[in-house]
Amino acid sequence: MRRSSRAAGRRGRYARGRKKLNGPAGLFAALALAEAGERVTVFERGQPVEERGRDIGALFARRQLNEESNLCYGEGGAGTWSDGKLTTRIGRNSERVRAVLHALVAFGAPENILVDGKPHLGTDRLVRILRTARKYLEGLGVEFRFGVRCARVNRDPNTGDACGVTLADGAVVAAKAVVLAAGHSSRGLMEALHEEDVKLTYQSFAAGFRIEHPQGMLDTIQYGEKYAGYVDGGKGPLPVADYRVANTVPDGVAAGRACYSFCMCPGGQIVPTSTVEDELCINGMSFSKRSSKWANSGLVSTITERDAKPFADEGYEPLCGVSFQRHIEREAAIMGGGKLVVPVQTAEDFLSETVSNASTLPSSSYRLGVVPGPLHELYPREVTKAIQESLARFDKQLPGFAGSQALIHAPEARTSSPVRIDRDKETLESVSCRALYPTGEGAGYAGGIVSAACDGLAAATEILRAYKSAQA
Ligand SMILES: Cc1cc2nc3c(=O)[nH]c(=O)nc-3n(C[C@H](O)[C@H](O)[C@H](O)COP(=O)(O)OP(=O)(O)OC[C@H]3O[C@@H](n4cnc5c(N)ncnc54)[C@H](O)[C@@H]3O)c2cc1C
Repeated sequence: MRRSSRAAGRRGRYARGRKKLNGPAGLFAALALAEAGERVTVFERGQPVEERGRDIGALFARRQLNEESNLCYGEGGAGTWSDGKLTTRIGRNSERVRAVLHALVAFGAPENILVDGKPHLGTDRLVRILRTARKYLEGLGVEFRFGVRCARVNRDPNTGDACGVTLADGAVVAAKAVVLAAGHSSRGLMEALHEEDVKLTYQSFAAGFRIEHPQGMLDTIQYGEKYAGYVDGGKGPLPVADYRVANTVPDGVAAGRACYSFCMCPGGQIVPTSTVEDELCINGMSFSKRSSKWANSGLVSTITERDAKPFADEGYEPLCGVSFQRHIEREAAIMGGGKLVVPVQTAEDFLSETVSNASTLPSSSYRLGVVPGPLHELYPREVTKAIQESLARFDKQLPGFAGSQALIHAPEARTSSPVRIDRDKETLESVSCRALYPTGEGAGYAGGIVSAACDGLAAATEILRAYKSAQA
């Protein structure tokens, strides 16, 4: 009904109006639209970086989780309290990537990000950059509304096109175009889209654990005994060592499954990225100097639709990946005993499937506490096998990688979005709801800070193109 009623001349509806935006994808869409003279409103469920910093401080110091302002939600999005790696697989020298890097420099990032092979900012710099960006955007007339959650996208009853949003307090906001850039953790909004008949499709993602090693051990593996000292905790002439490992299991129950390191944080720490306490989830961050004594990385394997399907809620099948994530995160929270305590196991014990001894655990950077748990029982058998077999292989490449000093933390289940909001390849609108621009990681079109920002620029370009052609 909605699809068939799309009027051929609907482009004529574009006029200056409000757009709903958020994190790197939303902010860069706002930037391009505002610089083109469009009127933009940013709705952000979390808080501005200053207040968000205090909320995160309370989480680290007093275990107080603010469900609306945390490591996932708030100004700058999920990548703000992160390592701030600016590496991307979408082409370092593409016009959009260059535009994003130049904008970051204009907002205060060091110029070396324009030339470094592996540019990174660190949380401390990101916070300052976001403050400057906000001031600039406000100067262009962008209205920021923090602490405001969008509950659903509204559709015109005649055309089915997006015509604004309903906020959590019930207020209805009209808009000519809606940029939906809500990240991969806005599960309620995804469910609301499904209920509004917006087309969603399962998207493969990866899940597993975070593995942590002493940074000094990695420096020695990568540079050798002779040169490792030149790293000097991030202050020396050699960069803090990193790694990248990947494997596809050749045979056995996990045949064909991939396992790889993800979002490696040299000199970093493992942090809680839960948005509610009974769904435990972790990630990694670091400061610009990368000076902590630990290195952590995601150690993840692909989750296929077949893995996720048994967890689907009736009527919400395209969201089975979300149900899978929820299941894993709830089980991990139970294993940890609650209060965001993380279950851990040494790599050696994970391989031999024995619970580690609490008194001999290596130290962890995770500040809310760790407890030994049977991590080998958390995931479906094939996923566990893929990670176990790959770990053994990685240990041959980087001796000690799977040894007694390697501590596995659970779970890393939000590497990317488990669902895609299908969109038209050219106009970038939802295929089932015109004037809705699903953008960034949560919509399934980005996997990191830079690619999300580029996708925001792309959405803005298409909105401006549609507006121009409507005026012509
Ligand atoms: C701890 C951590 C470390 C990371 N490290 C790196 C890294 O070093 N390098 C890298 O490239 N990537 C990193 N990532 C991934 C990166 O952060 C994401 O890929 C990127 O932020 C995605 O951008 P986005 O704009 O699509 O979504 P997000 O950044 O998730 O932004 C979405 C925004 O929407 C807001 N929002 C959500 N729902 C609603 C709603 N209903 N109403 C209003 N607002 C809403 C959220 O509060 C958030 O601000 C990291 C992620 C985490 C969690």
